[in-house]
Amino acid sequence: MVVKVGVLGVPLDANSSHLFGCAEGPDAIRGALHSGSRNDSTEAGIEIVPMLDDLGNLDVANVAGSRSDADLITDATRRQLATGNPLVVLGGDHSITYPILIAVAEKYANLTVVHIDAHPDTYDNFGDNPFSHASPFARAMEAGCMSSLIQLGIRTATAEGRQQAERFGIEMIAPREVHRFDAAALDGPLYLSLDLDGLDPSVAPGVSHHEPGGLTFREVLDIIDALPPTLIGADIVELNPSRDVHDMTAMVGAKLVKEVAAKLVESAS
Ligand code: MN
Ligand code: MN
Repeated sequence: MVVKVGVLGVPLDANSSHLFGCAEGPDAIRGALHSGSRNDSTEAGIEIVPMLDDLGNLDVANVAGSRSDADLITDATRRQLATGNPLVVLGGDHSITYPILIAVAEKYANLTVVHIDAHPDTYDNFGDNPFSHASPFARAMEAGCMSSLIQLGIRTATAEGRQQAERFGIEMIAPREVHRFDAAALDGPLYLSLDLDGLDPSVAPGVSHHEPGGLTFREVLDIIDALPPTLIGADIVELNPSRDVHDMTAMVGAKLVKEVAAKLVESAS
């Protein structure tokens, strides 16, 4: 079977806690992916763009706390995984990851999630919205979606964030200690959740929450590169085009789509 990587947009920002605008993220990444300044190839020389299967944008209502929007995301993920092809989901705010992981966990037991972010996103209750973009990894842990969660680039963990990491057994690695991440030790099916604010805002200003001191773009590419070829899905979230500068974060997102998709193809082959 020829592997095609499904690319699904989720134009949802109603579960954001600070600024809105990342509902426009999927289309901005597509624009960069097909802009005149780029090409189809990954850094390793894989002609990846023709191997992408654009599934369009999900028709979400984009209402805060909406269970039916979450169900739409779970159903679309389930349908794509049933084809046997992998998936990259474009956010949208980070709330989309919990409903994605519900479907991923139905298919893959013993899942490891690698999560790149400035924030742990594990609040028990943020603004009385269980689907807040500040809580997806608390919900996914409570639901037993993965056996292991490794967070990279975290530099905003509050006392609650640290308690939640302890409670759920989350491994949290700050930018200053990112060299501790041992991709070779990962085992079993892998999912990558990539919040663009994990990068330093100097390379990715088009996000709602600017948190200085983040990962370099090369560090993130090296992390993707080092992952074992057992990656089964990914999301790239929190691009807010209204905050972007000359579409540079959209281009960052588009390049990450290419590099992540190549890892997905390698894993599926
Ligand atoms: Mn996040
Ligand atoms: Mn974040």
